[in-house]
Amino acid sequence: MGIFDHAEFDDHESLHFFNDEASGLRVIIAVHSTVLGPAAGGCRRWSYASDADALTDALRLSRGMTYKNAVASLPFGGGKAVILADDAAPKSSELFAALGRKVDSLGGSYITAEDVGVSIDDMQHVRQQTKFVFGLPQSGDSAGGDPSPWTAIGVFWGINAAVKTRLGRDSCEGLTVAVQGVGHVGGHLCKLLHEAGAKILVADVNRENLKIVSDSLPVEIISPSEILYADADVLAPCALGNILTSATIPKIKAKLIAGAANNQLSTVADGARLADREILFAPDYVINAGGIISVWHEYNGASSADQVRRDVEKIPQRLEALFRDAAESGRPTNELADELARRLIAAGRK
Ligand code: NAD
Repeated sequence: MGIFDHAEFDDHESLHFFNDEASGLRVIIAVHSTVLGPAAGGCRRWSYASDADALTDALRLSRGMTYKNAVASLPFGGGKAVILADDAAPKSSELFAALGRKVDSLGGSYITAEDVGVSIDDMQHVRQQTKFVFGLPQSGDSAGGDPSPWTAIGVFWGINAAVKTRLGRDSCEGLTVAVQGVGHVGGHLCKLLHEAGAKILVADVNRENLKIVSDSLPVEIISPSEILYADADVLAPCALGNILTSATIPKIKAKLIAGAANNQLSTVADGARLADREILFAPDYVINAGGIISVWHEYNGASSADQVRRDVEKIPQRLEALFRDAAESGRPTNELADELARRLIAAGRK
């Protein structure tokens, strides 16, 4: 398997393959860019079909973090840690302590937080080994803690911005929203959508997460194989990436797609496929920046939850600007967002 000629290799600054025999930890840490600051991005733990798939995910996710942080005006570069989940090496305090030592060995060029498959409790074990970890509980009104609720709030406000642009409505009241994945972010998002008067369809491959949401909210559960094609006004992907493809896009009924999942588009060309079908796409790394904004304020210290909220409020404004540019130029929103991110990084390099 080539690395430098890998289809997803994008001049990544460094790639680290760590193996800790004692705990069973196998992790890839990809540092895409430190041009704008330390490479910040969460740690994902997932059971990949192959090591090659894990590498592809690390390369794509870390580049997405560079773009996300640039567009959110954060002084962070982009990176990501991907733990290869293995039945022989289940989650344990030792495994996350080992991760902490590996993160620490990078001397702060990469800073981590929780992502799919990783919890705040896991991150507490990382914290015992390194200071380069965030998304941890803070005291009083200080910024920090689980970033997921902030991600959900940003996504909710972003959905409202997209609803206004595409459907000409001021709220989600009476709309049907299909939420794929009801974990940390999707679960919070359902609560906000319910409070706003939306009808909610949900799907998840994890029965426990489905039960938590369906026990507390009036949601309709549908099959994971149908959620993308549900009869809904809005599709909110909050599970994994690579779901918007040449095969899935023709079958989508929603008029707009706005959700938290990273790397929703399989390829750049899929953004144009959505635009051709007049499906408004909220670029994932623009709409889902709420969590990393919270992480930035925690990293910065001396920040309050109010400051996080004020910065998360800029997410719908950024999306509205992108939607306006897309309407005026006739170009897909994802391409405009990528160009903006690359301009900001180039300016930072100078
Ligand atoms: P999570 O692990 O808590 O939840 C993800 C959920 O998706 C799980 O319940 C999982 O079972 C479900 N899922 C996986 N595959 C599925 C499928 N095929 N169909 C239906 N459900 C499926 O993760 P999270 O923290 O809620 O993150 C969700 C997404 O948002 C991820 O792509 C993550 O990278 C992205 N994101 C998260 C944050 C954050 O603050 N947590 C920030 C930015 C982006």
